[in-house]
Amino acid sequence: MKTGMFVFAALATGTLAVFGTPFPNDSLGFTLHMATPATNSPEQMVSSAQMKAHSVMEKDGKTLVEWRGHPVCGDGFTVTAELTPTPEKDGWSYEFRYSGNESGLGIRLIDFPMLTVPRTDKTAIFYPQKCGQVRRPKWKDVKPGANVATAAAGGLHFMAALNGNDVSWYMDQRGDARLRPNWAIARNGKEPQTATLVFRYAPQLTDANLASGALPFGGTIRTFRGDWFAAAEIYRRWAWEQPWAKAAFARPQKEMRNIAIWFWNRGRVEDVELPVERFAELTGLPVALDWYWWHKIPYDVGYPFFWPPREGAEAFSAAVRRLVAKGIFVQPYTNGVSWDQVDPTWETEGTFDSIVEKNGTKKGHQYNVYMPSALAVMCGSAPHFHARMRELMKNLRGSGLPGVYMDQVGGCTVRTCWSPDHPHAPGGGTVITDGYRKLFSDIKADNPGFCISTEDTPEAYIDIVDSAINLWQNGERFGMPVQPEAETVPAFMAVYHGAMAVYGSYAVIDGIPPWDPTWPDRDRWPNEKPWEELYPDQYVLEFARGVAMGMQPMVHQLRMSHFDDPRYAGNFKFTVDTAKFYHANLDFLYDGTMCAPGRLLCARQPVELFIRGIYTKPEKARVVRHPSHPTILHSVWRAKDGRVAAVLCNWSRKEQVYDLATPDIAVAGILPARSWRIVVK
Ligand SMILES: [Zn+2]
Repeated sequence: MKTGMFVFAALATGTLAVFGTPFPNDSLGFTLHMATPATNSPEQMVSSAQMKAHSVMEKDGKTLVEWRGHPVCGDGFTVTAELTPTPEKDGWSYEFRYSGNESGLGIRLIDFPMLTVPRTDKTAIFYPQKCGQVRRPKWKDVKPGANVATAAAGGLHFMAALNGNDVSWYMDQRGDARLRPNWAIARNGKEPQTATLVFRYAPQLTDANLASGALPFGGTIRTFRGDWFAAAEIYRRWAWEQPWAKAAFARPQKEMRNIAIWFWNRGRVEDVELPVERFAELTGLPVALDWYWWHKIPYDVGYPFFWPPREGAEAFSAAVRRLVAKGIFVQPYTNGVSWDQVDPTWETEGTFDSIVEKNGTKKGHQYNVYMPSALAVMCGSAPHFHARMRELMKNLRGSGLPGVYMDQVGGCTVRTCWSPDHPHAPGGGTVITDGYRKLFSDIKADNPGFCISTEDTPEAYIDIVDSAINLWQNGERFGMPVQPEAETVPAFMAVYHGAMAVYGSYAVIDGIPPWDPTWPDRDRWPNEKPWEELYPDQYVLEFARGVAMGMQPMVHQLRMSHFDDPRYAGNFKFTVDTAKFYHANLDFLYDGTMCAPGRLLCARQPVELFIRGIYTKPEKARVVRHPSHPTILHSVWRAKDGRVAAVLCNWSRKEQVYDLATPDIAVAGILPARSWRIVVK
């Protein structure tokens, strides 16, 4: 493989056939998805390969890659990628612009950079799916040009083709974190032994950017050596200097930092409250409650009308105040984006605020498989929705709650809106993100000191939300392929650990997902099995993974029966041990900066997970088998005072030998079954 310097020099000679022979002449390209602003407008794809002329020239120390003339956009249509060498000469900063478009069509999507790089059969792809994922495609089975990874890039804005110690490729977007929507796509290249990395951006369609315009941000393309963490370090060096990162890190995080474990409990006051209180008393640890199904409406039906509480405002408020008086942080579930199209208020209010798809529809999704509902996502411009949510938040704050969870905002607002009736131009841009940021800031202004939590780890909101739930370390639950083909990696934590609290896991001590009694009883599983016996490693593995990534521990649905029943004694003890371990090491696991994970030697073993969620009917449950899962989870951290620590967890039921070598620390030893260890240097 050739080096970045070679590539740059070759670019400057005027040809893009730079990576050896044979190699396509379009290693840097673009595709524009063009249409009129009207919904249902047919799309015209305009790609670099269709352009009539192509040149590469040097000017004032920059390289201008220019494409001119297109059958639809006119002979004067010019697209320019301006590349400036990085100070280290290992890549370029890029800018992108177009002019002379005579087609009358606007640009719905800009696919740029579209970078084709050499790959081997072992090349892995890092892409910004949620907190970060690495895919190791079976390239031989992938058709030329077919996608191997696609993400709505909400969490982070970089991707990479990873070749270990050989030359790896990295590209990012360096713009305002609010500039959405963005997607990241990796494909098998059209030529043999190549891969193509693509960023996709959705601008707004306005008269001002019809004939000419530009990507409203730049970015970098460069080579490096190393793994996903090395790529994250490149992005981190830039991200830490940005205003949203500085603002997020500078905040006081008193409530969030002092949480040893979260309980994701659902249902009635008695079922939810008592186990949390008992856990807090038993351990003396500060705990937090993420309270689902406190509301009168069934889950995922009738949104956004959460108020009143299921057992009345008085009982709800009394429970909240009891918990808060005991130092327990409580946040109730709300959905931050949805209006149910089945609710009568849809026609009088919700419909006006809904996102309109480019085909003109207002799409509703039925999450609840047991009851009719269709949850439509609200645009950023959504006065009725904002009014309803602000009213709800005042009721919640009035109940004594210190914070609220607003589902889906962090994970589902990478969208476009084509409404002809909203006061924004059709398309993407920042309108949706800006609207949700305004909703957050209005809620905070209405309710001083109120904490807001949302879903996933969204860069566009990290300076305004206090915490986020991240569940992608349990990717098997979302249908992710198993290792080594796919792996969730803590790239968000590598970049932004400590900027806000991140918690989460799907781990259920008895393996029985919660059931909302407002759902029809006929759909409830008639028989439960001893899941903790049948899948004896599932709870511990699912629970520990996030903690090993520097996330706050979370247990799903803690029940009173979990405290004393001998069947759950092992899982329960590990829960207590983990919460104590996490809380004793906040200087690393909350405040610390993630260091390179290095090389860990340990035994591997098969493990099976039973995949079943709240909406899984018995015939749809399935088993995911990892043929060879490492028995030790680990991460490395640097505390604010400079000390470095290796954090290790043996989730298996046998003691395990480990040998960890990283640039910052080297440790080896034997770790007892189901235990944590921290080694500080
Ligand atoms: Zn809109």
